This record gives sequence, C-alpha cells and structure tokens, in this order.
Amino acid sequence: MSRSVRTRPEGSGRGLSEAYDTALLDLDGVVYAGGNAIAHAVDSLATARSGGMRLAYVTNNALRTPDAVAEHLTELGIPTGADDVITSAQAVARLIAEQVPSGARVLVIGGEGLRVALRERGLEPVESAEDDPAAVVQGFGGPELPWGRFAEACYAIARGVPWYASNTDLTIPGARGIAPGNGAAVEVVRIATGADPRVAGKPLPPMHRETILRTGAQRPLVVGDRLDTDIEGAFNGEVDSLLVLTGVTDGAQLLAAPPQHRPTYVDADLRGLLTGQPEVTGGAEGNGGFRCGGWTATAGEERLELEGEGAALDGLRALCAAAWTVGGEAGCGLDSGKALARLGL
Ligand SMILES: [Mg+2]
Repeated sequence: MSRSVRTRPEGSGRGLSEAYDTALLDLDGVVYAGGNAIAHAVDSLATARSGGMRLAYVTNNALRTPDAVAEHLTELGIPTGADDVITSAQAVARLIAEQVPSGARVLVIGGEGLRVALRERGLEPVESAEDDPAAVVQGFGGPELPWGRFAEACYAIARGVPWYASNTDLTIPGARGIAPGNGAAVEVVRIATGADPRVAGKPLPPMHRETILRTGAQRPLVVGDRLDTDIEGAFNGEVDSLLVLTGVTDGAQLLAAPPQHRPTYVDADLRGLLTGQPEVTGGAEGNGGFRCGGWTATAGEERLELEGEGAALDGLRALCAAAWTVGGEAGCGLDSGKALARLGL
C-alpha cells in the first residue's frame, strides 16, 4: 500500500485470509469484549487458521504477560501460544534494551507483564529511584499500583533518567464504565516533571516493528476496532488493515476519518477475514455516485446521500468512498446520520 490518500475501501477477489499471510489482531473489541468472545470470532479465526493464515494478537495492554493472554484466549476456544501474543511491554523493553547497557536496572511503574518483558531482554526491574536505574518505564499497573511509585518515577526523571511508556491509551472501557488507562497515569508523571516519555505502543512504529520481528510476517493484515491506534498503526507501518465494527468505532466516525484513520477494508466482524471484499465503483467523473452492492452514495451540500438496497456493509463502503473523496486530506464534515440510519448502523 502506498501513503497516498485513500479515498475508498479496496476490493479483494480472494478471501483476506488467503490474500495475507498473517493477521495482526487487536484483542478488545475484536476478539473479545468484557471477558467473552465476540460473536463469530472463535469460528472465523479457526477457519482462517486452518486455511493457513498465521494469527498473532497485538495488544497495548502491558499489564498481562503473553502467557496470561494466551491462556485467556485458549479458554475462550481460540487455541493460542504465548509466542502468538505481542504486547506493548515487549516493544518498550526492546526499545530500552537498545539504549541502556546490558543488565541495567529499570525502574518499573507497572505490572507483571512489564517485569517479565524487561527480564526477557536481560534488564533488571527495580522499584525505587534509589536503586540507581538507567531508565524509567511506565505501563498499566492495575488497581493495586501504589501511588508512591509515581513519586519514584518523578525523582528519577528529575535526575535526568530517560523515561519510557509502553503506551498512552488514556482510558480503559469496562463493564462499569470508563476507567483511567496508562495514558492517564503517564499524564500524572508528565504534569509533575514537565518531561516527555518515549512511547512504544500502537499507533507508534516500535510496536509494529516488534510485531513484525516476532511473527516474521511477509504480508501482514492489521485487524482492529480502533481508528487512532490499530488503523493509524497500520498506516504508520504502511501495511493494510481491516476495521471491524464490533468495538469502539461506529459508522459516523469511520466516514469522518482523516487519511491516517482510513482502513483498507471494513467489515462487520471477523467473518470478514474469510470472504472477499466487494469493490466500490463509480465516482470518477462529476457526481455520478459511488456504487457498492445495490447501493449508490453521493456527497450532497450538507449531508451524505444514499440510495438503493442490499447489505448494510455495502452501503457503508459506498458511503466511505463518497465521504473520503470529499474529505480529501482532512475529514469529511458532512452529516451522515440519515444515510447510516437507513443501513441500521
Ligand atoms: Mg480494541
């Protein structure tokens, strides 16, 4: 894929699990939600894998170890080994190991996933600024992370010790609402110190590099539910992406997306891995409309218009072409409410 501005979803004559050798799958909102597998995930992944596609799971969550993530997936009916899981803790540990002497001490503001990843790179996790750390690393620590650990980070950073963060996701959506994520914890230290961390997680290149190094993917497909992490990470890594609508992104956000947030393909759920993707046609000259399946989409003065009938996802693909074309290098500001309501999206 080139970095030119994408103005419509691409078509694929072959199933995506045949066209790509490795799926780099986000977890929350793609494979599971709130501890349960998302509809069609288990069967679709089993079929993709038996057809020869490598499945790798790529998560910004630095708290859980790859072993723990693999165990959870296996319990859900998706047989997974620890080697199939790539975390932002691993990505940041590699980043640190490239900058500090072998065996160096690293002050950890985070959980077990981070400590295991540091040891894997030959680094020694410590808990106090008095332990003479060569780096400070911050990852999601869960509800039991003591407040005093933030103070240790600030003491070390104030002395000039370089600061790293596994990821900067501000929030963690859960069953009871929105909780602060590692990005919010990073802001605590940033406000107190005035410093800036080096960050590894999606959508930044270190995470993508870690994923490619660990999977050996030749023709990877990023599969995600979030535009500003999964899809932007694919854009930054110059690889193709599939957005599924089982997570945090809705149709209106997709239509308003700026270029770095536009996926190569869009589908309802992971069944999209197994099928080809219909082509969007038309729109070349004048305002004849963009067609997909039985739908035709056009950009009006104030809103996106949709005519026809058929599968909802085809209508959404046609709307993407109309919105992304008119939006160009910015996002499309046209009202999409009526058109999406027709699709039940
Ligand atoms: Mg997600």
